[in-house]
Amino acid sequence: MLCKRDMTQMTDSQRRSSTPVQFIRGVGPRRAEALIAAGLHTSADLIRYYPRSYIDRNAAGSLSDIRRKFLQNNIFDIEKNIPAASVSLKNQTTVIARIIKVREHSFGANRKMITAKITDDSADSAEIIFFNNVHYYRLILKEGELIAVSGNPEYDEKYKKTAFYHPEIVRIDDEDQAEYRAGKILPVYMLTQEMRKAGIGLKMIRGAVKMALDEEIAFTGETLSADILARNSLPDIRRAIRTLHFPDSTATLDRALHRMKFEELFFFEMILAMRRRGLKTSEYGADINPKSAKARSLLNGLEYGLTRAQKRALNDFARDFQSGQPMNRLLQGDVGSGKTIVSAFAMLMAVDSGYQALLMAPTEILAEQHYHTLKKLLGNSGVEIVQLVGGQKKKVRTEILDSIALGKANIIVGTHALFGGSKSSMKETEGLRYNNVGLIVIDEQHRFGVMQRAKLKSLATRSLEQKEGGAIHSPHILVMSATPIPRTLAMTLYGDLDVSIIDEMPPGRRPIQTQIVFESQLPEIYEFIRTEIRKGRQAYIVYPLVEISEKIEAKSAVEHYEFLSSEIFPNMKIGLLHGQMLWYEKEDAMKAFKNREYDIMIATTVVEVGIDVPNATIMLIENAERFGLAQLHQLRGRVGRSELQSYCFLATKDHFRYVIHKRDEEFSERKAGVIRLRAMRDTTDGFQIAEIDMKLRGAGNILGTQQSGVPEFQFSDLVSDIEIIASARSEAFALVNRDPHLRSAENEPIRNEFRRKHIVGENLVDIA
Ligand code: ADP
Ligand code: MG
Repeated sequence: MLCKRDMTQMTDSQRRSSTPVQFIRGVGPRRAEALIAAGLHTSADLIRYYPRSYIDRNAAGSLSDIRRKFLQNNIFDIEKNIPAASVSLKNQTTVIARIIKVREHSFGANRKMITAKITDDSADSAEIIFFNNVHYYRLILKEGELIAVSGNPEYDEKYKKTAFYHPEIVRIDDEDQAEYRAGKILPVYMLTQEMRKAGIGLKMIRGAVKMALDEEIAFTGETLSADILARNSLPDIRRAIRTLHFPDSTATLDRALHRMKFEELFFFEMILAMRRRGLKTSEYGADINPKSAKARSLLNGLEYGLTRAQKRALNDFARDFQSGQPMNRLLQGDVGSGKTIVSAFAMLMAVDSGYQALLMAPTEILAEQHYHTLKKLLGNSGVEIVQLVGGQKKKVRTEILDSIALGKANIIVGTHALFGGSKSSMKETEGLRYNNVGLIVIDEQHRFGVMQRAKLKSLATRSLEQKEGGAIHSPHILVMSATPIPRTLAMTLYGDLDVSIIDEMPPGRRPIQTQIVFESQLPEIYEFIRTEIRKGRQAYIVYPLVEISEKIEAKSAVEHYEFLSSEIFPNMKIGLLHGQMLWYEKEDAMKAFKNREYDIMIATTVVEVGIDVPNATIMLIENAERFGLAQLHQLRGRVGRSELQSYCFLATKDHFRYVIHKRDEEFSERKAGVIRLRAMRDTTDGFQIAEIDMKLRGAGNILGTQQSGVPEFQFSDLVSDIEIIASARSEAFALVNRDPHLRSAENEPIRNEFRRKHIVGENLVDIA
């Protein structure tokens, strides 16, 4: 996917000769050097050097508000009325305050720190503290001066003080202050170390930008077409750029920012749209007939009816199979929404049309479970199902490989072994030859990397008959995910995938009751577990999350197991499951649990994915604050899988009730932990949970930036700009349909912008 470099690095100066920065009034050679070091060569570069933030009197926070928030010391309950989704850690607080007193202190061997007491219009005060660059801040922090302070404040209970550690400081001079008092919005530019050393301050940058604008703006070309601008009420590029530097009101600034976001997202979506169009014309899909006798008889034999959402997904598949092009579809459905059965229908359609179908799962336990589920469902349908996982005995493996190569096996369920395994790739693909694969299903697809999916696809494609010189004959691909990726992010990330969503649970499910409990309350919870077990239910106790190593994690699980089985549940049957066990040991343990040989399963996060034990109704997660939201949601999804009432207890340390914090990281970690637990308590909606998760961690971290291809945007935020994404996307896809080569005169600005950004290339529809 496209990276930030592509989007921003081509400079306008490469198109047309603009004034070198050195000759802009007030700059001169020394300062020019510092500017050039930051990539600002000419006036054209300067006008694209957008402010990093703005100081706006109306938007600034007050010190007394900050203190009030902290004083409500049970943070499990603050902001009760605000939906959890609006809690953001990323947003910094900015206050405008005056420096009252500056102090330097020595500590340790020869270390120094500098602190300044500040006060603002709310008459409250706070401390700003720097441990580094003391010599620099000594020059900046002057008593009596007005500054803008941005950072994450903390509250020190002992000294009853609000403190900002290493905040960003912007000095507001007298002239600025007059403007600021008059309600003017002041742009703040990023200043590099070199710029500061060369004596470049905000004022100087602002002046240089102003001159550059006067000279340059008339030559700045529009990047969007007139009809798109009009339809979306976007200001033109010149007005937008000018406003970004010198906003006259928050309203116009918002419109200018909106335009920049739209533009950025639009070009991103254009690339997705063109890529998809390229795919569509170069491949044709396996010929699967959705009218399948085997699928029909499975449906008739099912003890339950499909939900409407499941039927809708099946209709989507049927349409794709008949389209002549390969399906590339994401099936998203929350844990327990019934994706497996839907994929079984699709696989039967493939089998009935003479194809093999592959079902890949991320773990052996899960592959095993799918294998048995399918066996049970398709027991006497004449469909041959085999299982291919790592570590199978040579003789067994050879038999399986033969049946696959000969086409006797119709459905092949497995793990990474389906594409040769993740480690010893050469050895493992040995003897693995598919026979006419028409459909690939990938469960829990986020567990697989892009390359791994590609590898499986290429093995499958090779098994299909190819014609010389024609379009490629490709298998249909269905990827399934219970990782609730917010809809719009899914759309953005999987721009070249279609999405079907199962947004409905099988009927009769009761919402899981979720409760946050503190460790001092655990005895009550244990008693509750005993009572439920006496009623015939089963429980999971997940513990702990020690990330240092799997070994240590296993050790503490074992210790915990010993403690719980001897001290707490002496009369119960207890199983153990952790990552250090061999795959068949894990499977045996899970099977035993499924067969009710255990009342309680003590486990690490290995139970997280996909396991289906409907009789298990209690999930107790210890040290819950340490788990990620997606993980908590997955874990909770192990219960509530039948009509029985299920419970989830999130146990955390008692002292988490209070804000006690010293260091930055510790505080934000704790706060994030609390927000996660609250989110879990307050909603079971996976999509809502995903949105919160994304806010806490940033979109790129949700799936791992490397693999997810979440681009870094300069202006846009994938969470808060959902509506802009949607409109940019629909404009882009419509445009690629209308004018795939961007030939019409009205789309010339867009074509030029593509050239300017050098993002014309392979995979894209030719727009030259
Ligand atoms: P997931 O989407 O998390 O993979 P599963 O496919 O494991 O969910 O389904 C969860 C459980 O729901 C299974 O026990 C399955 O048999 C059951 N199930 C699936 N569809 C329905 C339905 N329409 N009505 C009732 N139960 C269903
Ligand atoms: Mg599943």
